[in-house]
Amino acid sequence: MSGSKARLQAIENVKEYQSPAAFFSATDAPGEVFGQNVFTKAVMQKRLPKPVFKSVMATIEHSKPLDPAVADTVASAMKDWALEKGATHYAHVFYPLTGLTAEKHDSFFEPGDDGGSIAEFAGKTLTQGEPDASSFPNGGLRATFEARGYTGWDVTSPAYILENPNGNTLCIPTVFVSMTGEALDHKTPLLRSQQAMAAQAKRVLKLFGHTKPDAVVSYAGAEQEYFLIDRSFVFSRPDLLNSGRTLFGAKPPKGQEFDDHYFGAIPDRVLAFMLDAERELFKLGIPAKTRHNEVAPGQFEIAPMFERSNVAADHQQLLMVTLKKVAQQHGMECLFHEKPFEGINGSGKHVNFSLGNASEGNLLLPGDTPHDNAQFLVFCAAVIRAVHQFGGLLRASVASATNDHRLGANEAPPAIISIFLGDQLTDVFDQVAKGGATASKEKGTIIIGADTLPVLPTDPGDRNRTSPFAFTGNRFEFRAPGSLQSIAGPMVTINTILAEALDHIATEIEASIAEGADFDVAVQKILEAIITDHGAVVFNGDGYSEAWQVEAEARGLLNLRTTLDALPQLVTPEAIELFSHYGVFSEREIHSRYEIALEQYALSIGVEARSTLEMAATVILPAALRYQTELATNVASLKAVGMEADSADLEGVSALIVSLRAGIAGLKAVLAHEADTVEEEASHAGHDLLPAMALVRAAADELEGLVADDLWPLPTYQEMLFIL
Ligand code: ADP
Ligand code: MG
Repeated sequence: MSGSKARLQAIENVKEYQSPAAFFSATDAPGEVFGQNVFTKAVMQKRLPKPVFKSVMATIEHSKPLDPAVADTVASAMKDWALEKGATHYAHVFYPLTGLTAEKHDSFFEPGDDGGSIAEFAGKTLTQGEPDASSFPNGGLRATFEARGYTGWDVTSPAYILENPNGNTLCIPTVFVSMTGEALDHKTPLLRSQQAMAAQAKRVLKLFGHTKPDAVVSYAGAEQEYFLIDRSFVFSRPDLLNSGRTLFGAKPPKGQEFDDHYFGAIPDRVLAFMLDAERELFKLGIPAKTRHNEVAPGQFEIAPMFERSNVAADHQQLLMVTLKKVAQQHGMECLFHEKPFEGINGSGKHVNFSLGNASEGNLLLPGDTPHDNAQFLVFCAAVIRAVHQFGGLLRASVASATNDHRLGANEAPPAIISIFLGDQLTDVFDQVAKGGATASKEKGTIIIGADTLPVLPTDPGDRNRTSPFAFTGNRFEFRAPGSLQSIAGPMVTINTILAEALDHIATEIEASIAEGADFDVAVQKILEAIITDHGAVVFNGDGYSEAWQVEAEARGLLNLRTTLDALPQLVTPEAIELFSHYGVFSEREIHSRYEIALEQYALSIGVEARSTLEMAATVILPAALRYQTELATNVASLKAVGMEADSADLEGVSALIVSLRAGIAGLKAVLAHEADTVEEEASHAGHDLLPAMALVRAAADELEGLVADDLWPLPTYQEMLFIL
């Protein structure tokens, strides 16, 4: 089928599409399916001998190291449970730096002595694996002679069953490290950073009189945005297939204020999808609440309940896989790209985070007694210091070729990392800042801990959607992460920079006390110092405004517009010192991450550039030439019978064909470049490939507005966004 026929057929397919009957019967109450496929605490309690259960719980809830002696017993119970659930295989699931999820499946069954088969699953098989996996990015951490990578069970993230019509698989969340113990994945540093943050938070809690605090953990809840389009369109869009975004496409005649249209046309089909997706997520123990998002046509959002950050990160990956799978079962494609359609709002993934534990609760919850206030203010001040000092690292943690299309584009927070506190909290910190000054004259009046401190806001009343880092009542919301990325990277950064800030605070308070200061005075002193030194990062105004760009610069805040600007932040001496001091990354590891990020950036743009070239040369140019011929024939035949022929259309199309050809030739030339280093390759991708692609696209998109509709080969924005 030729291109344009394929496009028209795709539209027919969508029109005739019938939603499948829901996979679940209406009697499947959410309460009954929730966690059905998870090796939960309750399942363990039922199946494990009491001492073994207690030992595993000590690891999960109190961060005690796993006792190897119990591994065999746990493995055996897990195997029996999995076999009852129809599992034939098990897989160590890990999160390599491609950003995707990797699984290596092995069968439970091994040949027995009697010629039959026996199900084998020893403790060692549960806790450790050795996938070959040598082709995952490692940034030079693994020479070929030491190419082995190891996976190790993350006991704190529950195992689960992944269903498939052809057999179920027991999935075990794991870390992935090199033979020498270097991190090759997203989970290892996340666990390390949790530990670093927990150690410092514990010191602070002890200073506040909690003599034996539980281990503090960070919690994350991610709001995932995505687009849904009919799959029939995807098959005739090589760009969507290759790179997840459209590399061509003129804006629809009506923009994204098309809500009314879109509301009328789609709900049943999308709702059916959402219900099925939600059930699947529930089974996997992922507490999701779905809802519809009105910003762009075809765009939706799903926000699971927050969980401890490593579990949330695993669940987030699983959520993306599940949405994609269920969408396909419904004849749709779920697009997680940050900017699938130019000119239409893109997608982000807001990462909400807080920290706390079972005994103290949420440490970012402003209490209503002065004592709690002081403790809350200290944790809040830690966030302020952390974000101010390491805003560049936060920016780097969300840097990718795909997110570059969205950040700073007046639909997402700017590339400047600032904090929104809201009026009330800002006022409290203003008082703290002044408190020091008055306290010397009028001793004791505004000192923290005295009851002059106002009751803090518990209701996220005022909201600011333009801030990249906003306090929202009981948590902070990091709004810059991209919809496609794992939340692990941002959480590693948040945990680590908080570890540094809490360390600093604890050390200062301890020093003041050692010098004979009252605890309250010591707390006031450090809060005052932090707000004085780091208050510049607090900004409650409009982050999208031009004025903020200017003001931020005056305040000395970084404005790292692109990935190429942001990534070097990973390898500054301060960043290397930070990560190695808190044991999150060794210098070698952080260098490898930097290289991998550059490599991924260059690869992703390289694929797009080659796709652009191919589509322009083999799909768009031929359509334009056909139309040119049609116009030329028309002009010639009119002239042949002595009629006046207007050749303006022909000239317009011909001129654009010239531009398109020039663009194609230019891109081809730029693509021929060979780089010596990964830095050079990334820089070439950003500085040479992207502009060359833009020239091709400009001519092609203009042609789309001229070429006869029945000749145009690619599904249009209007069709993809509004026909569902
Ligand atoms: P909004 O759109 O107003 O930002 P949503 O309800 O869409 O809010 O999403 C809020 C997200 O924040 C959810 O994922 C939720 O689980 C998460 N969240 C709520 N409280 C906390 C908390 N204390 N710590 C971390 N995440 C939280
Ligand atoms: Mg939000």
